[in-house]
Amino acid sequence: MRAAVLEAVKNLVIKDVPQPEPKDDEVLIKVKACGLCGTDSKLYNGDYSANIPVILGHEFSGEVVEVGKDVRNLKKGDRVVVDPNESCGACNFCRSAQSTFCQNLSAYGVLRDGGFAEFVVVGEKGTYKMPAGLSFDAAAFSEAVSCAIHAIDRAEIKVGQSVAVIGGGTQGQMLVQLAKIAGAAEIIMITRSQEKLDLARNFGATQSICASGTDVTKKVLEITENQGVDLSIEAVGSSETVEQAIGLVKRGGRVIVFGFTPEGQKASFLPFEVLFKELTIMGSWVNPYTFPRAILLLAGKKIDVEPLLSERIDLDNIMDGFKLMMDKPKGFMKALVYP
Ligand SMILES: [Zn+2]
Ligand SMILES: [Zn+2]
Repeated sequence: MRAAVLEAVKNLVIKDVPQPEPKDDEVLIKVKACGLCGTDSKLYNGDYSANIPVILGHEFSGEVVEVGKDVRNLKKGDRVVVDPNESCGACNFCRSAQSTFCQNLSAYGVLRDGGFAEFVVVGEKGTYKMPAGLSFDAAAFSEAVSCAIHAIDRAEIKVGQSVAVIGGGTQGQMLVQLAKIAGAAEIIMITRSQEKLDLARNFGATQSICASGTDVTKKVLEITENQGVDLSIEAVGSSETVEQAIGLVKRGGRVIVFGFTPEGQKASFLPFEVLFKELTIMGSWVNPYTFPRAILLLAGKKIDVEPLLSERIDLDNIMDGFKLMMDKPKGFMKALVYP
């Protein structure tokens, strides 16, 4: 079968590899769509470590073509989507309802082979049947949506609160939609691109701030009567925007560090500001227990991903997708790969 194998940092090879065989508790899936995500470019560039060599691709949907003999709830022909973050269920974190920190996590497309391939083998427990109205394309967004849901869960938005989302990429646009669903009264999108600001407005942002050449903090203070927002979510993944996120919240406010900053990169903050404002600064890591809700939101069209799908790419041309992600041309949001 054809597959895109990360053989070394900055060396993704599209080649023929043996088709995998499912173990007793696994299913073989024919991949229908697999999202290309910022994490993939971080893995490609070595900003985050993969278990090299590995087939990348962690946001995939497809059809079950073979089932192991111990699989109980899936059968050949089922349309499925996969939660790539598979916890073991047996370590101390898993047993304390913190599967996100599982010590034996097997992340598809990062630590074990993923969906940039014609076929992928996945454990039954990470495989979800797709509801009838959910397309393979929309389903491929489930993981991205589930991560954004976790950030919103962590944030504990109260109806009527104000939220600033820094970053207008796919995740930022989903966060805007989820903040709206969660009942935020003021949703401020902060990003550099006018297209992304417009998109966020369509998704429910009440204010948009173009981040280039603007004093963002001053603007947010103007909008919020000099108070700052209840919540800021950093969805860029840079030191600069993490620092900015801290400065945007009011006293008693909450900051969610959600963007994927390169490992080892530092940001600075004023301890007095954290003290005086009684800030809560929280990380939001992957998607514990949020996958079923992501599927329901997508199937019910409560989250609209259609405007976020800007490119459809064949597996053999996957490097074009990586190039788009790195060059970020105007209007580009997300690409799906079709093996
Ligand atoms: Zn992803
Ligand atoms: Zn575990």
